[in-house]
Amino acid sequence: MEMELESILLPGVSEQRPLVIAGPCSAESEEQVMETARSLASKGVQIFRAGIWKPRTKPGGFEGAGVAGLPWLQRVKRETGMYTSTEIATKQHVLDAVKHGIDLLWIGARTTANPFAVQEIADTLLISGFQGPVLIKNPVNPDLELWIGAIERIYNAGIRKIGVIHRGFSSYEKKLYRNLPQWHIPIELKRRIPKMPLICDPSHIGGKRELIAPLCQQAMDLNYDGLIIESHCNPDCALSDKEQQVTPDVLEYIISMLVVRETKQTTENLTNLRRQIDEIDGELLSILSKRMRISREIGQYKKEHNMPVLQTLRYDEILENRSSQADKMGIGVPFMKTVLEAIHEESIRQQIEVLNR
Ligand code: PEP
Ligand code: MN
Repeated sequence: MEMELESILLPGVSEQRPLVIAGPCSAESEEQVMETARSLASKGVQIFRAGIWKPRTKPGGFEGAGVAGLPWLQRVKRETGMYTSTEIATKQHVLDAVKHGIDLLWIGARTTANPFAVQEIADTLLISGFQGPVLIKNPVNPDLELWIGAIERIYNAGIRKIGVIHRGFSSYEKKLYRNLPQWHIPIELKRRIPKMPLICDPSHIGGKRELIAPLCQQAMDLNYDGLIIESHCNPDCALSDKEQQVTPDVLEYIISMLVVRETKQTTENLTNLRRQIDEIDGELLSILSKRMRISREIGQYKKEHNMPVLQTLRYDEILENRSSQADKMGIGVPFMKTVLEAIHEESIRQQIEVLNR
């Protein structure tokens, strides 16, 4: 589906990468919201985030301040000049957030995974007259089509200021990250919808303070447009996600240390190098096609002499010998094995085709 998207940058927001959205996981009290907001505004943050309704995995946790917290966000806007944003998950959330003048809305990971909920939000956005921006987090499960489906539902409600937030994907095994980044999924999304602004949420990917900085840098290196980072005036006392929240001071430090490489200027050198890569890829393709032609000839020979297509000894020998050759040339052995396996599979397929002719 072709999408005509408009910029998600609200008037006056800096066009410099990265766009930074920061604030606590949850709005807990008016004092906590105001203290955090004042501090963030003094460090140049222009968009404040705070969860008003919190989707909790189990009952009994802090479920957010609810509607009572919306006037706190209005006060943030009034007193600091920052734009405000929050997560919406139901029809009522949309109506309440819009009524209180929240500037930017986002759809949480658990909600994106549920098409009924996304459709309800889309229908309510349409009747509310809200124009966006709306940011759509990836669904908890690594399903690109589901993510794109949610984007299309919001787009079909007339919203043109749309962006996506990459917050990682659930996995049963908890290793380094709270949610596996699986960078290739948002990158594929960007390939499919090139104009889609891509925002990284290192807080929910990492789940730990010390992972925020390297994740932010990685996002910048992958050309993300923005970052949404959880920041709390007193993280150790936060009512939700305390291990991953950083103080406004730390947030400022993390942002100041980021190396943001400019991507738009393609230098002459780069163009030349790319031309060489194009040529080499062309050679690779013609060598591969030559290899397949010989492989088919071998298939013909095997057919005439009634030999089986797959000869495992020969295959083992190829794997062994090419891998050690690759190793000597500085090419990773696992990579070489993957390439050889793929080539071998295609050879076998072509030989079987010859056999059945
Ligand atoms: C959040 O941003 O606080 C949040 C609940 O995130 P997610 O939907 O990514 O879990
Ligand atoms: Mn959170």
